[in-house]
Amino acid sequence: MKFSVSSKGDSVSDKLKSRIDTYLQDFGLKMDEEEPDIVISVGGDGTLLYAFHKYSHRLDKTAFVGVHTGHLGFYADWVPEEIEKLVIAIAKTPYQTVEYPILEVTVRYLNGNQEEKYLALNECTIKSTEGSLVADVEIRGELFETFRGDGLCMSTPSGSTAYNKALGGAIIHPSIRAIQLAEMASINNRVFRTVGSPLILPDHHTCVIKPLNDVDFQITIDHLTLLHKEVKSVECRVASEVVRFARFRPFPFWKRVVDSFIGKKE
Ligand code: NAD
Repeated sequence: MKFSVSSKGDSVSDKLKSRIDTYLQDFGLKMDEEEPDIVISVGGDGTLLYAFHKYSHRLDKTAFVGVHTGHLGFYADWVPEEIEKLVIAIAKTPYQTVEYPILEVTVRYLNGNQEEKYLALNECTIKSTEGSLVADVEIRGELFETFRGDGLCMSTPSGSTAYNKALGGAIIHPSIRAIQLAEMASINNRVFRTVGSPLILPDHHTCVIKPLNDVDFQITIDHLTLLHKEVKSVECRVASEVVRFARFRPFPFWKRVVDSFIGKKE
């Protein structure tokens, strides 16, 4: 089996990465940065997002596992003290994987430029670089509303605990193949009106956001921020690809939610 270890780049994560590299090679596994079967991310959720994008072209052949060197992460749920246990599990057992849905984003342009496709593990956000975002929101080809406000956020179920949660979106269990649209400070008065609630779309629905004001747009895909000019539309749907996480022990999603956001009772 081939592996790769991605580090956050700080000294603690780098030291842990070299220990994992050595242990796994001692067990006879081959280090392969290009075509790993398993990617161990060492750092935090941001490190796992980075690893996901590095290998997003071969998700069907890659499983991820996250170790956190800071606070407990949603994707990074192993602690450095468990590293020997994790290495043995990777080396010795045919491991199980769980699959989570991800988001497919297609950006189309007015100027005839080639469309761009992206996959997101957490979310895609759209904001105007100047003033409010004014955009038509279409669901399944029908106009749903005209949005005016700071921006829109389309998230995956596993990303529903990230930016989406800060916007008042619901937490969705990642076994549900859906995406969620959440508003960022919509303008609601006698003239402008949006639904005001987050929307959860099933995997056979497509949502197209069509900007109406002629400015540049800041589109984020997870931790990546891109400036797009002359955007005609941004299409979001549940991707046909999935992300796979190697599972060596049960750590139910709702327990992760409790541990991250509520904490233990005294
Ligand atoms: P960062 O360093 O600003 O970290 C953002 C925080 O989000 C970290 O604490 C991380 O652990 C947490 N996080 C990431 N994915 C998560 C998930 N699926 N569930 C729960 N928490 C999660 O940025 P980064 O590390 O580069 O991560 C990028 C992510 O930051 C984006 O995908 C977005 O979700 C999130 N973000 C959140 C807000 C907000 O909550 N207001 C604003 C901007 C970006």
